[in-house]
Amino acid sequence: MVASTFNPNDPSHSSAGAEASLSRRSLLRSGLLAAGAFASAAAPSAAAATARIRRGRPRNVIFCVSDGMSASVPALAERFSQRVGRQRGTALRQLASDPEVTQGLLDTSSLDGPVTDSAAASSAWASGSLVANGALNYLPDGTRLVPIAPLLADAGWRVGLATTTRITHATPAGFASAVPNRDFEEAIAEQMLGVEVLLGGGRSNFDPKDRGDGIDLLERARGQGYSVVDRAADLDAAGEGRLLGLFSAQHLPLSLDRRSDPLLAERTPTLAAMTTAALRRLAVDDRGFLLQVEGGRVDHAAHNNDAAALLWEQLDFDDAVRVALEFAAARDDTLVVVTADHANGNPGLSGSGGRYRATSELFDNLAWQRQSFEQLLPELLRREVQVGTDDSIGECLLTRTGFAASPEAIRTLRQSLRREPTGETNPQLAGIAGQLGSLLSAHNGIGWVGTSHTSDWVVCLAKGPGQEAFEGLLGHAEVFPRLVDFAGVNHRNPTAAADRS
Ligand SMILES: [Zn+2]
Repeated sequence: MVASTFNPNDPSHSSAGAEASLSRRSLLRSGLLAAGAFASAAAPSAAAATARIRRGRPRNVIFCVSDGMSASVPALAERFSQRVGRQRGTALRQLASDPEVTQGLLDTSSLDGPVTDSAAASSAWASGSLVANGALNYLPDGTRLVPIAPLLADAGWRVGLATTTRITHATPAGFASAVPNRDFEEAIAEQMLGVEVLLGGGRSNFDPKDRGDGIDLLERARGQGYSVVDRAADLDAAGEGRLLGLFSAQHLPLSLDRRSDPLLAERTPTLAAMTTAALRRLAVDDRGFLLQVEGGRVDHAAHNNDAAALLWEQLDFDDAVRVALEFAAARDDTLVVVTADHANGNPGLSGSGGRYRATSELFDNLAWQRQSFEQLLPELLRREVQVGTDDSIGECLLTRTGFAASPEAIRTLRQSLRREPTGETNPQLAGIAGQLGSLLSAHNGIGWVGTSHTSDWVVCLAKGPGQEAFEGLLGHAEVFPRLVDFAGVNHRNPTAAADRS
């Protein structure tokens, strides 16, 4: 536990809002308001309207993260949405062109240097301290930092986490846990119970059959008042209060693969559906909340140099951003932030043909891809081992991506499937994912600089009360004081003695 840092006498805090919130909280504790609590989520009450929080101080924050979203991705996703995906524009484009939005950038450096991983990035947002890559809210000297979720809970806020990865994966974990190594996901799962709403994958880290210590965290969660669900349909049916929704043993399936599998589609909620469910749970009274919404698998598709999978993931994220913006538009107390923890692979659509006029035609070929590399690569490897012919590999590519690869390209791909040198001079692209991505760039026009995170500054858009706090270029660690100040939290974590970069 952390010491209470909420100070209702802080003159910069809306005292009317705080009092209203506190009195409602006491009533809720006594059970008097419980029956009516849900109604206030659907229609903001008159009391909420009169206790209007002035501009500059949101009561609620929805923090949307497209994990691994390079600067090029919003423009690619807009084009993809218009031409290939759904014949309409993206919420991100709408937000970016809103004259009222605050446009900023985040410098993503971690304690290790210019390239961060998701653990260090989320930790910096959640603790205000740079940590080394791989650590979650731990300094190199072993100092444990207090992350934002317990700090906000102590100040009376609710916290929710919704993601397409395992819920114990680095980005959500950074807000609610502290472990020296992000791979300690069973320990992270234990620390996460207490967060009001947890939605994503990663059931194996809660299930006694899969946990190394055999502890039943699902049962523990029920004992702590959580509704525990594992199917999309149950999201709407579950009752009120805390919610733990784990819709896959590991990460949720990629959107591209879900599109071609009706069973997966029915079982797995979209990020937008999880965001809607989380908001319904969090916005039940005048207490503030922080909801982190993560499109966590944009990053995985970028590591695989899989342009089509990445863009379908980004559209899934975009739908969730739309839900967040619509929620905020219906009230005056909610700040929406949309950003990334780092760039990854830096995909770029290069101009093709005379006067670049073949560019769109190539880009539209993305529509032919029916399967993510996550499924395609094992199939290619299987064929190389079991069949081992150019025809078999060529047929697989053609039917699953629409690309009729040249005989030379197929031979090069087969060399990489056999882990033989291909002559590729960029070591980042020498692996099988890089080779497949490069091969398909002749089909869809999208090239990659590598298969890992990059040092780019990332976009940060903010709309709602407090948005001005996100103007200009900020370091990741500068996000923390802004977020906790909204809740009147004064706690500051220690920082590492020396920047190792
Ligand atoms: Zn990554």
